Amino acid sequence: MSCQPKKIIIAIDGYSACGKSTFAREIAARLGYIFIDTGAMYRAVTLYGLRHGAIRDDRVDETALVALLPEVNITFAFNPDRGASDVILNGENVETQIRSLEVSDYVSRVSQIAAVRQKLVDMQQRMGEQKGVVMDGRDIGTVVFPNAELKIFMTADPEVRAQRRYAELKAKGQQPSLEEIAANLRERDYADEHRAISPLRQAPDARVLDNSRMSVAQQMDWVMDLIEKLCR
Ligand code: C5P
Repeated sequence: MSCQPKKIIIAIDGYSACGKSTFAREIAARLGYIFIDTGAMYRAVTLYGLRHGAIRDDRVDETALVALLPEVNITFAFNPDRGASDVILNGENVETQIRSLEVSDYVSRVSQIAAVRQKLVDMQQRMGEQKGVVMDGRDIGTVVFPNAELKIFMTADPEVRAQRRYAELKAKGQQPSLEEIAANLRERDYADEHRAISPLRQAPDARVLDNSRMSVAQQMDWVMDLIEKLCR
């Protein structure tokens, strides 16, 4: 189906490992829209900080990281094998590296830094200028695109989310620990909901999707129905 000629912005927010990116990617593919995974952008900044000494020994040196920010150039390149865009950090494809548990452990602390958010939110708003985008993150419907035509807030049972992330990492050949993953998700959810700037919140006009017991196909039926009504 198509929303032509009226292109809209679809904002998807929610907890970690709810399947936001899978869902957003599928919607974008069906509509011929651009999909932007904003979590990947925060992860790329975190990776850069780790590589350049601003993050080490369980500490994020905010001053050092902010000083590095002008050097950080993030772009996306479509990867036909995944049917999605990989993150390119200063010319290097870092799609695999940004998904490590080390990056996951620090990313919520990095995303609390005002200058980091400002840089990435500016980029995200520019990417959405032409509309026709599906963007997933934590503050898309509240801060990045408060006027998005469709806002979805995703949630799922914590055990279901940990199991999904476990299976995902295993499929990539990693040796994850379910306990470590569950702990990381708990910590990130808490940090994302309680940070001072742009905390994770459900926008008042967002539709809630609890996908604990839903297949991707069922989620797609649910959302395509909503989109069809909006574009009518
Ligand atoms: O979506 P993902 O789990 O990859 O996001 C990683 C982290 O990036 C989140 O836990 C959150 O701290 C941060 N984030 C954010 N705002 C966004 C997207 C992600 O603060 N819009």
